[in-house]
Amino acid sequence: MGGRDTPSAAGLRRFHDDLLAAYGCQRWWPTQDEANPRFEILVGAVLTQHTAWTNVEIAIAALREAGPLTARALLEHADLAELIRRAGPHRVKARRLQALCTWFVDRGGFQALEAWSTETLRADLLSLHGIGFETADVILLYAFGRPCFVADAYAFRILERYGWSDGPRNYERLRRRIEAVGPAEDAIFYDELHALIVAHARGRCHKRAPDCAACALAPGCAHARAQAQPNTPRAEAGR
Ligand code: SF4
Repeated sequence: MGGRDTPSAAGLRRFHDDLLAAYGCQRWWPTQDEANPRFEILVGAVLTQHTAWTNVEIAIAALREAGPLTARALLEHADLAELIRRAGPHRVKARRLQALCTWFVDRGGFQALEAWSTETLRADLLSLHGIGFETADVILLYAFGRPCFVADAYAFRILERYGWSDGPRNYERLRRRIEAVGPAEDAIFYDELHALIVAHARGRCHKRAPDCAACALAPGCAHARAQAQPNTPRAEAGR
């Protein structure tokens, strides 16, 4: 089961390039800590779960003020939950961060983990408390530079409208569907693709009222086509 249209390699490249032309290079993931930016991505990936990024930045700044942003230092904080209070459910996230830091130290840090295959890394991350598919793929993509598609809620919204996903939302199905036609070794492509999808969801393909008239993706978008033929069931559904 999949979308109404099957994405092709050329179609996915065009989708990426059209967004790139519209929004410019995004250069994610935003970090503050020049000494240890990759580890900060692990921290940010947990803190951003169901939380606005501005609050994540405040929590990361508090952690940096309290000491070095390293796994060992975070494990030694007696007041980790208080330090990240601004990042949503802070006690839950403190437990998740501690699990991630313990994992990171036990596995030997980036130096050892670099040698792991992407599938093994993903499976190990998914075994941790509070790490789901999306968080694992954000870590794989941005901290480890692995070519992974992050199938977050923005991606589902846009790709369902575009015509590349339908039926009940299934993270792994969409991730594999996109990765099947995406460049196998090009993490920068997926890095930009995810960031551009977020920019597009926030800037034009809004949840309630997508601005299709001004959208760079409109020529290839099933929702825009249906809107142009207002008697079709899809246009009436409005999504
Ligand atoms: S044409 Fe409309 S529905 Fe399709 S991607 Fe653009 S804004 Fe979203």
